[in-house]
Amino acid sequence: MSSQPISFYPASPAAAQASAASVVQAWSVAEVETLFNLPFSDLLFRAQQVHRQHFDPTVVELATLLSIKTGGCPVDCGYCPQAARYDTGVTAQKILPLDTVLHAAREARAAGATRFCMGAAWREPKDRDLEQVEVMVREVKALGLETCATLGMLGAGQAERLKEAGLDYYNHNLDTAPEFYDNIITTRDYQHRLDTLGRVRNAGIKVCCGGIVGMGESRLQRAGLIAQLANMAPYPESVPVNHLVQVPGTPLHGIDPLDPIEFVRTIAVARITMPTARVRLSAGRRQMGDAVQAMCFAAGANSIFYGDKLLTTGNPEVEEDRALLARLGLRAQSTTIDARCEVTM
Ligand code: SF4
Repeated sequence: MSSQPISFYPASPAAAQASAASVVQAWSVAEVETLFNLPFSDLLFRAQQVHRQHFDPTVVELATLLSIKTGGCPVDCGYCPQAARYDTGVTAQKILPLDTVLHAAREARAAGATRFCMGAAWREPKDRDLEQVEVMVREVKALGLETCATLGMLGAGQAERLKEAGLDYYNHNLDTAPEFYDNIITTRDYQHRLDTLGRVRNAGIKVCCGGIVGMGESRLQRAGLIAQLANMAPYPESVPVNHLVQVPGTPLHGIDPLDPIEFVRTIAVARITMPTARVRLSAGRRQMGDAVQAMCFAAGANSIFYGDKLLTTGNPEVEEDRALLARLGLRAQSTTIDARCEVTM
């Protein structure tokens, strides 16, 4: 398979981001809902047009996620097996030693991942927690990987410390539309999330921010989530779109599952409204199966979490992912901060 890019998209994601930086479009919830309501083939056609303007549609970014501190979280997110208040079988653990994190980062790099995300189940990191994460960020970065962290809410000065350590991305999801949020989380409010995202952006760290669908929200509320994300100025560089994984013991276990076609629509609408973002297929890929994942790639998803486990829920095995990408004629993007070199799988 050739690694030469074809001509109808920019030569690099950075070029795409730069060329689109001046294009800002505000989306009303009604406009986003109108996209959701398009005939499926029209929606996919529009999403593909936008995707091909900004990206090589045959390239998928691989990102690996490691839980550096699992379980025991005091927040009550209704989907999360790491919340201390739900009996899900997840045991609270202390923060991992540096050696363990670096070993996982080297393995991820060897498997082709380009970005290494470190997640901790905290409401917010204490200063002494942050010191340990700063060391991890420095050391992972030294391996040539992009770094991402998801540590909960950040207080004053904490984003700057992470930036100083070399953090490239901070993940903090909005989870859902403001109107539906109280159905899912009661122990911290929407504004807290927006405040953290503002701190991350002001510190000069790239923003990874998305949500979860299939939590019982309506299509209008899915449109509300996408409008919130797309109207950030600028919108996030990475947009993880998670499909709820129903974990026994969590309040959302047993709700009606989302129609898979609706999930693909959500991906397409995210692509259209955030043209230069990495739209990432995140949690829920195992349950989706290959055909739905293939439709998601056709709808503009161009990033996946890679590896056999997300924070605590299963993820398709590495070899299954490689085989699926090969069947679809997709290539993994192996990009470090300074150099772009794509590998053919
Ligand atoms: S999603 Fe994060 S903040 Fe919410 S309960 Fe789980 S670990 Fe805690």
